[in-house]
Amino acid sequence: MTDALPPCPECGSTFTYEMGALLSCPECGHEWSPEAAAAAADAQEVRDSVGNVLADGDTVTVIKEGVVVGGEGRHESPRHPPRRRRP
Ligand SMILES: [Zn+2]
Repeated sequence: MTDALPPCPECGSTFTYEMGALLSCPECGHEWSPEAAAAAADAQEVRDSVGNVLADGDTVTVIKEGVVVGGEGRHESPRHPPRRRRP
C-alpha cells in the first residue's frame, strides 16, 4: 500500500483515494486527475513582453527602438567626389 496520494485540491482532505485514473475525495466529492494537476503546476509559464514563453537558459530578446542607422562611416561630402581612374 502506498500512502502518497496528494491531498484534495478543493478541501485539502488527505483521505483521497484512487478511482481508476482519477483521484477522488470522499469529503467533498471532488474528482481530479493527478496528472492534470501536475501538468497545471508545470504550466506556470513566464512570458516576456512579446508573449514568448521564457524557460531557464533562454535569452531574452530586447527590442531596441530609435536605433540610428547610418550614423557613422557615411559622411560623404559632395566637394570631394570619389576619384575615378582613367584608362
Ligand atoms: Zn475534497
